[in-house]
Amino acid sequence: MPRDPHYDILFEPVTIGPVTARNRFYQVPHCNGMGRAHPTAMAVMRGIKAEGGWAVVCTEQCDIHVTTDTEREIRLWDDRDIPYLARMADQVHEHGALAGLELTHMGYYTSNYIGREIPMAPTARPVHGIEPFHARTMDRTDIANYRRWHRNAALRGKRAGFDIVYVYAGHSLSLCMHFLSARHNQRTDEYGGPVENRMRLLREVIEDTKDAVGDTCGVAVRLAVNELVGPKGITPEEDGRAVIEMLGELPDLWDVNVSEWENDSETSRFADEGFQEKHISFVKSLTSKPVVGVGRYTSPDRMVSLIRNGVLDMIGAARPSIADPFLPKKIEEGRPEDIRECIGCNMCVGVSNQPTYLRCTQNPTQGEEWRRGWHPEVMPPRDSDERVLVIGAGPAGLEAARGLGQRGYEVMLAEAGRETGGRVARECRLPGLAAWARVRDWRMTQLHKLPNVEIYMDSEMTADSVRETGANLVAVATGARWRRDGSGRYHDFPLACGSANIVTPDDIMEGATLEGPVVVFDDDHYYMGGVIAEKLVQDGHEVSIVTPESAVSAWTAYTLEYERIQTRMRELGVARHLGFAVKNIEWSRVEIEDVYTGDCQWIACRSVVMVTAQDPVDDLYHALMADEAANREAGIRRVSRIGDCYGPGPIAAAVFGGYRYARELGEAIGDDVPWKQEIVELAAVV
Ligand code: ADP
Ligand code: SF4
Repeated sequence: MPRDPHYDILFEPVTIGPVTARNRFYQVPHCNGMGRAHPTAMAVMRGIKAEGGWAVVCTEQCDIHVTTDTEREIRLWDDRDIPYLARMADQVHEHGALAGLELTHMGYYTSNYIGREIPMAPTARPVHGIEPFHARTMDRTDIANYRRWHRNAALRGKRAGFDIVYVYAGHSLSLCMHFLSARHNQRTDEYGGPVENRMRLLREVIEDTKDAVGDTCGVAVRLAVNELVGPKGITPEEDGRAVIEMLGELPDLWDVNVSEWENDSETSRFADEGFQEKHISFVKSLTSKPVVGVGRYTSPDRMVSLIRNGVLDMIGAARPSIADPFLPKKIEEGRPEDIRECIGCNMCVGVSNQPTYLRCTQNPTQGEEWRRGWHPEVMPPRDSDERVLVIGAGPAGLEAARGLGQRGYEVMLAEAGRETGGRVARECRLPGLAAWARVRDWRMTQLHKLPNVEIYMDSEMTADSVRETGANLVAVATGARWRRDGSGRYHDFPLACGSANIVTPDDIMEGATLEGPVVVFDDDHYYMGGVIAEKLVQDGHEVSIVTPESAVSAWTAYTLEYERIQTRMRELGVARHLGFAVKNIEWSRVEIEDVYTGDCQWIACRSVVMVTAQDPVDDLYHALMADEAANREAGIRRVSRIGDCYGPGPIAAAVFGGYRYARELGEAIGDDVPWKQEIVELAAVV
């Protein structure tokens, strides 16, 4: 279908200094957990985005010198780093996009574990986080060195084939930003004091970069215009505005956002699409250069209005490009309903923070483009006439049925309930998780386009009814249920207490009414404990949360939600018993024990919510496997478990399990590594 002319504006070219972007879709720099450790996986992942229509595809942050080191990202420390970055640029060019390179020196934000260099800062201070190191004050020689290192890295980037080279002043991840922000810069020389002085280094580095590579490369500045810490940091009214007013015409493009990363990549639980607009909308009025901004944009109408209203010139995206590398193509081809919209869960951020292969809840092929050869849009056609029965229409079952249908298999999808979506349908009704319904909605849209997939609702399957379907392959995707007995990470064995006033998140999502006060025992540590506490407060209960960890939802430190969740718990008045576990439950009180000393205390409580562990709902699978002869007689060649029924976990794992089933039809894993590995070439020992 031709694209809707309303969207034509999104496909206008944009000039970025000496280079031209073919349209307004711009993949801003983002981490991926693969970087230099898995460079070909990283390069191919970027190339697929170019194939999907993005006009600019950028790297993650790239360390310019040994005095700024992280293991997980890319580097241009010397010429030996050029080839793998050239591979990325080549992959991007192959599909007609521009390749962008985000250079940085992280200053105090890194502890330099690899090279053991003392970190540097405008003004001496402890390094970021809780690491036991300090950064030293940079003197004039350090500043001159830094400028030279940046220039050298820019020249290497040009040799690697990049079209856009960044000067980075965002996320508190760069010296240029540290110099700009008064809270990091208390110098008294020409680089400190008034904002003109604090932006001196930024100006110099932009000039250096333009001078070094500006003849063939666009020079972009990524600038945090709001640190969201009030007047002690950069604000859109003061320093952020001053930079654009004074340097607005110097670079070829402004990529503007809010700092730190927690603020730039807010989850949908805490911020809606377009959440940065109010911070960055002033920029365009102060510069004639193209302006890029982000805000988890997935709606093409919203994108058009951003351009028409003069907020942005290019639509920046990290997460929307991860969830759907083909987002621009789908708009261009007149099928925006096919966009696999980011749900704003930050699983991608969570795993790249580990750091390991990027993964995405919505896009199971993310990170697998090279090593497993998975393409986000293309599936191999079916190579057999098997009829496949998928049981359960949660994320795993929906994705399996969709993928099998795309391949051309004849598929029956049987769901016991009256709605599809499984856990997603339930969880999206919890506070802040509405956008998670997109996991179901996108798959249902796709399934409705597949005539070879039949969906049977209200169809609770038994071993006998499965054998009557005529299916040759059966995928059991019947999900998991939260445990009621308190066992999990802290308690190896079930707690010996009655269950009269004990409920699970499943009960609450299914509408159980509770008597308060309520204790939530969170031994899961991802989102569920905190979200359930929030819902119970909304329902009018007095709520305490008991967790063996030192914070509520501790794993969300990886998804960047940790601080907001702690704040939310405090704002809601949730009593927090951190470093404690539930030990005994009586009718009107609960005994909790200090996990370090074993000291106990009682707290008042009429209901306990156990958020500890989940058990697979696999009785149907076992019933089928109990009589394999009957299966054979019925023509069933293989029965497989997928998703939470096989191993409970995040939604991303269930979607991945469903997709994998669709590609591999439940083939058992063999003795060999089932994906390509990139192993470092050994150097000589001496
Ligand atoms: P996953 O995350 O692995 O997809 P979910 O718990 O989200 O798992 O979804 C499982 C789905 O399976 C639910 O919608 C549930 O109603 C359905 N289901 C469970 N048992 C049966 C059964 N015996 N027959 C058909 N559907 C079932
Ligand atoms: Fe979006 Fe979640 Fe995918 Fe990240 S993991 S891109 S936040 S859907």
